[in-house]
Amino acid sequence: MSLRFPVTTRFAPTPSGELHLGHVLAAWEARRLADAHGGRCLLRIEDLDANRTRDPLVVQQMLEDLAWLGFRFDGEVVRQSARTAAYSAALGKLHAMGLLYPCFCSRAEIRAEWEEMPRAPHGSPRFRYSGRCRELPADIVEEKLARGVPHAWRINMRRVQDLIGCPSWEDIGRSGLQRCVPSSCDDVALARKDAPASYHLAVVVDDAWQGVNLVSRGEDLLGCVPVHRALQGVLALPVPLYAHHVLLRDAAGRRLSKRDQSCTIRSLRERGISPQQALAAVRSAAEAGGKCLLS
Ligand code: GLU
Repeated sequence: MSLRFPVTTRFAPTPSGELHLGHVLAAWEARRLADAHGGRCLLRIEDLDANRTRDPLVVQQMLEDLAWLGFRFDGEVVRQSARTAAYSAALGKLHAMGLLYPCFCSRAEIRAEWEEMPRAPHGSPRFRYSGRCRELPADIVEEKLARGVPHAWRINMRRVQDLIGCPSWEDIGRSGLQRCVPSSCDDVALARKDAPASYHLAVVVDDAWQGVNLVSRGEDLLGCVPVHRALQGVLALPVPLYAHHVLLRDAAGRRLSKRDQSCTIRSLRERGISPQQALAAVRSAAEAGGKCLLS
């Protein structure tokens, strides 16, 4: 597909572990799409989750591995940990619009409730929050907030739909034009006590702020687009195009995971593999539907 405007893409790794071949494919795709359309490719470090991602050595190592592979990014490297004021402003806007509600359920309670949901004879229902706190009476909410009961702020997707209807979005790769039905999305948590903003909120705020108009990333995140499209709608943010690429798999067809030490760039370097060999392996894997023989 040829796009008639300069595109801005981004590679947005979460520094929760070492750079691995899956990251290389994501960075390579984002750079390739930018180059193909005379555009820019930005680098954003998604280090919002303090428990998982704040080790400065991990980020430093990632940047070094990217440089070793020969990747070039445009503009300043943005770190989400420095952007919390922007996420709070977006949350404030959603609050003022009456779209958020506090959820007092613990993760264990939510999981237990989901496990008790009736199952279809084949397969299990997609994990989602039941919406239990959406209809809590106002006096109970007030009392719990006053007592400082820990809570997350969730978005009421039914209200979102009343406000923006069912907007469309487009994947320029395989899935084409799609419609987002907010009421069939989970009422995702947008902030918690220990996390000033969730991935969903930060990603839409930053993509808009950085002028990203083509979001390129792995197909494991395809299912998040309806939530992102709904947030863009209520926050009146520009809507990017999307391109989701295949995920890498090992020779046995299993998805490469960052837990597989054999596919980290560190280990490839130690095994004497050159940057050109690593990039060529990722490129041919992408062309072959994801199967990667280098792991
Ligand atoms: N930070 C995410 C990851 O490392 C990618 C987010 C995105 O591309 O939207 O998987």
